[in-house]
Amino acid sequence: MLSRFSSLTVCLDMYGCPNRCRHCWLGHAPNGDPCPDDLVSVAEAFRPYTERLTVYDWYREPDFRDNYKDLWNLCDTLSDTPCKHFELLSVPRAVRDPDYLPWLLERGVRYAQLTLFGGKKMTDRYTGRPHAYDDILHSAELLLENGIAPRFQVFVNRENLRDLGAVETLIRKRDYAARCKTIGADFSVFVHQGSCDGANEALYGIRITDEDLARIPPFLAEHTLAYFGKTSLSDVFGQPESVWYRELSEDTGTQDPVSDTPVFYVNSRFDVYPNISAPEPIWRLGNLRSDGAAAILDAYRSNRTPGQYTLAAVPRNQLVRTCGTPDSHRLFTRGDCIGYYVNRFARTLINA
Ligand code: SF4
Repeated sequence: MLSRFSSLTVCLDMYGCPNRCRHCWLGHAPNGDPCPDDLVSVAEAFRPYTERLTVYDWYREPDFRDNYKDLWNLCDTLSDTPCKHFELLSVPRAVRDPDYLPWLLERGVRYAQLTLFGGKKMTDRYTGRPHAYDDILHSAELLLENGIAPRFQVFVNRENLRDLGAVETLIRKRDYAARCKTIGADFSVFVHQGSCDGANEALYGIRITDEDLARIPPFLAEHTLAYFGKTSLSDVFGQPESVWYRELSEDTGTQDPVSDTPVFYVNSRFDVYPNISAPEPIWRLGNLRSDGAAAILDAYRSNRTPGQYTLAAVPRNQLVRTCGTPDSHRLFTRGDCIGYYVNRFARTLINA
């Protein structure tokens, strides 16, 4: 018998997501249709291996299906700790289900995050769903009516940089800051570009550069610094890849990703992944139905997948030599840059 983890969180992607966002670090997998009994069996499979189990029925869109209230109660019953809702919501549900936002408020949700990619055309295109922009704006109004403050994250790359002016216009015109104040909440909006994994890895070529930072409207730049508690945009967006290339070329370190409080993602075919990077083949620990939880947890603890092996055993100077671009001006945080190299390197192990 494996020793027990002090806590373990398992998230089953029961129904997927209505969107196909182009920046999505979780990638674009088909939506599935497991039933509540499947969630029970996933929880039972992991329970013997942890002191405290927490169960979620989603890791892409929360509250996607009509049985969301029953699933919330089921997750609570299956968990040893109270489930947290987080400051996330289902936008399509928010605009179609009048019970939903009062229910979120009852769960203690006071802020909810909405994602914009610029104006209507850009946001619809990047969300991958027609009318996404209209639904997002409508959600913001309904949130405020229900005493929940909208918070906007704005995703940016070289393609939509010039559309950020439309976001500033929207926020000023709708006066979200003053309206949040009337419900006793602070208003936040921030711009970022996300980690370079999942679907967002395909946008590597249009990641913003240090020169692009000056093109972020000052209004959004100020709000971004306030949100992250930073003094310069470089602290938020990171350094050019060329800087990391030089630094990591001298770095012989590795990082053991195994935790005593792991979080696992289980897709609708019951393939299991650690929540280290996108759920893609290089991180797949096994299949819960055919391999069982013991073998999966053993693979996790042993860093047996190409992704975990690369993180734990391949020195960073080798990663950067194999996968880095020495003259790239694209901005990365240090962690995102290493994560990008780890994924690229690990794929070479699968393809070898
Ligand atoms: S970013 Fe969120 S909403 Fe968009 S596709 Fe991914 S999981 Fe769905």
